Amino acid sequence: MAQAERYAFVVENFDHHSSMNWRYQFFYYLDTKEIEMYDIKNKRTFLKRCPYDSIERDMLYIGAKIVVYSRQLTIVDFADTFTRNRLQKKTERTCAMIKPDAFLNAGKIVNAIVRSNLRINQLRMCKLTQQEAAQFYAVHSERPFYPKLVDFMSSGPILAIEIVGEDAIAKWRSLLGPTNSETARAERPDSIRAKFGTDNTMNAAHGSDSDETATTELDFFFGSGRVGQCANLSDCTLCIIKPSALVAGYQGLAIDQILQNFNVTAMELFRLDRANAGEFFEVYKGVVPEYNSMVDELISGDFIAIEISESGGNPVSALREFCGPADPEIARVLRPKSLRAQFGVNKVQNAIHCTDLPEDGELESNYFFNILIS
Ligand code: GDP
Repeated sequence: MAQAERYAFVVENFDHHSSMNWRYQFFYYLDTKEIEMYDIKNKRTFLKRCPYDSIERDMLYIGAKIVVYSRQLTIVDFADTFTRNRLQKKTERTCAMIKPDAFLNAGKIVNAIVRSNLRINQLRMCKLTQQEAAQFYAVHSERPFYPKLVDFMSSGPILAIEIVGEDAIAKWRSLLGPTNSETARAERPDSIRAKFGTDNTMNAAHGSDSDETATTELDFFFGSGRVGQCANLSDCTLCIIKPSALVAGYQGLAIDQILQNFNVTAMELFRLDRANAGEFFEVYKGVVPEYNSMVDELISGDFIAIEISESGGNPVSALREFCGPADPEIARVLRPKSLRAQFGVNKVQNAIHCTDLPEDGELESNYFFNILIS
């Protein structure tokens, strides 16, 4: 019998009790979907080879976070040449950015990324200062259009995205189309710049042009500097597009409907461990029977948190209304156009969490956009 295809990675797990990063070898057996872990420091098996259906090969790339028996593991390297040769090109990374002129169309553009079999590994809404925009485009500082470009890039919110996938750099640039949106409309009418851009400065979106620039640009947005912080943290409510809705590919459609109807002031992709997810849902503990399942759902994968602001109004109840009844079965009967009716499966995998009580809007937004990120 042929040997099962086995991929090997180095993974890290941050242990909150000891405040230490533990390193393991992580093995994935493609044919049988089995996993196995080896403790590198103590030189012994940590997890015996066992079936683990929820992990797919596409989830395994450098920088990915996976959850194994409630432990969140970050893949930091390939652990053998076979895995590197097989997966390195398949897991190329690029930095995409939706520019201010297309920000309200960000959901449609995210949908185009998801539909192209590219994976979104990180995503953050930012508002760049003039200095930050000047730094991002520093290579063009001698060009005549530079001042205009810097003004434009700092004129409104942007969405930075880390895209991962086979030939991600070239694929994303092909989806973008020519630099000048007018040329794009003539030559590539289906491209993103043709559909959502205006001219040669305001051209809807950006994509890295090489591995090296991708690394620098991803570090600019997702490294420790955290440029362009934009959350309001007051007069606001919180919306979460849950992991099961992301797995089903609904994130772009949901973001689009939210952007068309609300004033979005912060957005970011998160992954939580059990301790943080339990803390966030603490108010439901002992109150709703689904508490444990809600925590399980939230830690099962990536999700997108969105802050919606409205001064002088009641953003919490407006968003609740838009999401519809908590149970999607009921929502489909009573409010068929609501987000949960469209994208939810059941009471736990109901696509969207939204703040319940008016006084909790600021607390929930602060939890993600202030406490967790600091
Ligand atoms: P890209 O890789 O396709 O984004 O193009 P470049 O790296 O050459 O340029 C960076 C950005 O500068 C573009 O996306 C445009 O927003 C802007 N830009 C580039 N060339 C021109 C130009 O000739 N005139 C103006 N006004 N803006 C330009």
